[in-house]
Amino acid sequence: MTSIQQNLELITSQIAQAEQKCGRAQGDVQLLAVSKTKPIEAILEACDAGQRLFGENYVQEGVSKVDHFNEQHADLDIEWHFIGPIQSNKTRPVAERFDWVHTVDRAKIAQRLNDQRPETMPPLQVLIQINTSGELSKSGIDSEQVFELAQLISSLPNLTLRGVMSIPENVSNYESQLRAFQELAQVKAQLAARYPTVDTLSMGMSGDMTAAIEAGSTIVRIGTAIFGARDYSNRA
Ligand SMILES: *Cc1c(COP(=O)(O)O)cnc(C)c1O
Repeated sequence: MTSIQQNLELITSQIAQAEQKCGRAQGDVQLLAVSKTKPIEAILEACDAGQRLFGENYVQEGVSKVDHFNEQHADLDIEWHFIGPIQSNKTRPVAERFDWVHTVDRAKIAQRLNDQRPETMPPLQVLIQINTSGELSKSGIDSEQVFELAQLISSLPNLTLRGVMSIPENVSNYESQLRAFQELAQVKAQLAARYPTVDTLSMGMSGDMTAAIEAGSTIVRIGTAIFGARDYSNRA
C-alpha cells in the first residue's frame, strides 16, 4: 500500500469516527480529495484505493487533468469539483468540464457558467461560497446576500443549486470552529427549506474536520493529509 493509500484509509476512518461520535449515519460525509499541484500519478494512486471525488483550484491545471482522465481513464468515472476562485473570463473551461463548482459568489459567475454549460452535459452542481468570518480579503459573499444569489441560480436551467461552501478563519479552538460551522449550517437549512435540491454543506479541512462534521458538513475537503505538502516552486 502506498502512503497516499494509507493516508486515505486513516482519514476515512477519522471521518467514520466523527460521524459516529455525533450520531450521524456512516457514509453521510463525503471525502473530497484536493489534488491541486499534485501529479496524475498521485490521483491514480488515490483512485486505486477507491477515491472518486477530486477537487482542483486552478483552472488551467484542473482542465488539463480532467482532459487527461477523460481521454485515458474515462472508465474511472471521476467526479471533478472546482474549488478555487473563479474569474469571469475563466468560466468557460470550468463550465465545459467540471461536475461541481463550490465557489460561486456572484451573479455574473453564475450566469456565465449557466450560459457556457454544454447542453449535452448534466446541469453543473453549484455551491454558493459564503464568507463567514467577514474578512474583506477572502472570496465569498455575506450570508445576507446568499438568498438573492440562490434565487438567480435556481432559475438557471443549466445549474443545480446544491448548497453552500465556506473556508472559515483558521482557528484551533474547537468551540470557535463549531460556532462558525453552525452558522453556515443554518444558512444551508434556510436554503433547503426553499429549494428542494439543496442538500450539501462543503466545509471542513484537515485542521477542523471533526467540528465541521459535528455541525453537519456533507463534504470535507482534504489535500495535504492525503497527498502530502504541496510544492508551489514549479508553478508558472
Ligand atoms: C487547498 C484547499 C483545501 C485543502 O487544503 P489542505 O490544507 O491541503 O487540506 C480545501 N479547500 C480549499 C478551498 C482549498 O483551496
